Amino acid sequence: MFWAAAKEGRLVVEGCSSCGAESFPPRGMCRSCRGRTMVPVEITSHGHVYSLTVNYQRWLPDLEVPYAIVLVEFRDHPGVRVVGRLRGCPPEEAAIGMTVDIGFEPGPGDYAIPSFVALLARGDDPPRPPREGIARGDDPPRPPREGMAGGPDGI
Ligand SMILES: [Zn+2]
Repeated sequence: MFWAAAKEGRLVVEGCSSCGAESFPPRGMCRSCRGRTMVPVEITSHGHVYSLTVNYQRWLPDLEVPYAIVLVEFRDHPGVRVVGRLRGCPPEEAAIGMTVDIGFEPGPGDYAIPSFVALLARGDDPPRPPREGIARGDDPPRPPREGMAGGPDGI
């Protein structure tokens, strides 16, 4: 259930159909009432960093170090905490309480593993101007390249 949803970029946790408690990772049993009727609950809201650690160890050859591993909680989903790599900001800027968006990235094998994208830095940073893609056209026009003039086969 979890991995199938993850492949589609959805974060799904377990909700208890008896008492409503939600838990992650899925274990097939409610942690509060021990009911066994669990239904998938998709998390669509932003999360907040509950705790974090910065990893300097290169576990995987493709993974740039250092990077921050965050434990994220969700306001609308008490009891659910999901761990994943933090992207979108330098690891030293990762902070408790920062807002993160849910993202996934390719993991070992064919799996997508949860990771998080930083939305806001520590709060009092000035908002960054939106990136306008091509609007950076203020470069002065380049002088013509001199090496090209007067080539051997000029007309
Ligand atoms: Zn329950």
